[in-house]
Amino acid sequence: MSADIIDGKAFAAKVREKVAGHVARLKEEHGIVPGLAVVLVGEDPASQVYVRSKGKQTVEVGMNSYEHKLDADTAEADLLALIDTLNNDPAVHGILVQLPLPKHLDEDLVINSINPAKDVDGFHISNVGLLGTGQKSMVPCTPLGCLMMLREHHGSLSGLDAVVIGRSNIVGKPMAQLLLGDSCTVTIAHSRTKDLPEVVRRADIVVAAVGRPEMVPGDWIKEGATVIDVGINRIERDGKNKLVGDVDFASAVERAGAITPVPGGVGPMTIACLLANTVTACCRANGLAEPEGLTA
Ligand code: NDP
Repeated sequence: MSADIIDGKAFAAKVREKVAGHVARLKEEHGIVPGLAVVLVGEDPASQVYVRSKGKQTVEVGMNSYEHKLDADTAEADLLALIDTLNNDPAVHGILVQLPLPKHLDEDLVINSINPAKDVDGFHISNVGLLGTGQKSMVPCTPLGCLMMLREHHGSLSGLDAVVIGRSNIVGKPMAQLLLGDSCTVTIAHSRTKDLPEVVRRADIVVAAVGRPEMVPGDWIKEGATVIDVGINRIERDGKNKLVGDVDFASAVERAGAITPVPGGVGPMTIACLLANTVTACCRANGLAEPEGLTA
């Protein structure tokens, strides 16, 4: 058996189309244009690429993009002052501070200074708490994208056994909360988990968010399971640079019922969900109905 390939690129295009439709309606019916502010501190090359891509896609769906590029040695007080200005700017509905920040800046302090209603990354402690208690929150983009793909593939996730490998604050933990919210039986595995292969073999849904190239081989996967591979790992193979996931795609595709490829799976969904969160934040700020299917 060869698994269905879950095409994240195509699904992300559908999400962007939905967002663009909603943005057009907001403009036409209410004269409101959602705005996303992205703050980049320093010149990390990968962060620069992400920020460019976010800005471009924001404009493509009809929203306003505000980019703030600060020097690597920016004082914490100056960054906090900028966030305060953005918090109070009615044209800005979403604020994203690109991580990682230079070492002299306190990431938790900075993230928690964002107005939770504008925290489109969903990392503010209030949003973490709201998600954990099943209340309306801003949901971290990568796990939200994974959830959307799982719902699209399965319909209901109720009662399914799910294993999330990885317990980071940005992927593993919120992913587990979302799956629990959809009534899966959830196991969170990590580097200390005993007998990881056996834990994974029980799962109807496997979400791998580890950051170790191809560490999950096909024979850990239950026949017919759905595999969501969050990992993005750069490796060199046959003298070429390649992107691979945390799952060994070649063997897993023979066992799984459905699987996301790397690249072209979870990756494209992350920015699409950032746009979705921005339009959701804009609707909430204006007391308008939220677009359906773009939140958890
Ligand atoms: P972190 O490094 O923060 O977390 C990795 C997790 O994996 C930790 O909880 C760690 O366990 C666990 N882990 C490490 N080694 C093992 C092992 N041998 N067995 C089981 N668990 C292990 O990573 P992130 O969550 O930030 O990212 C994970 C991956 O997802 C990365 O490849 C990253 O590039 C990718 N990513 C992709 C995104 C996208 O848009 N597609 C967005 C964000 C991330 P412990 O806690 O015990 O140390």
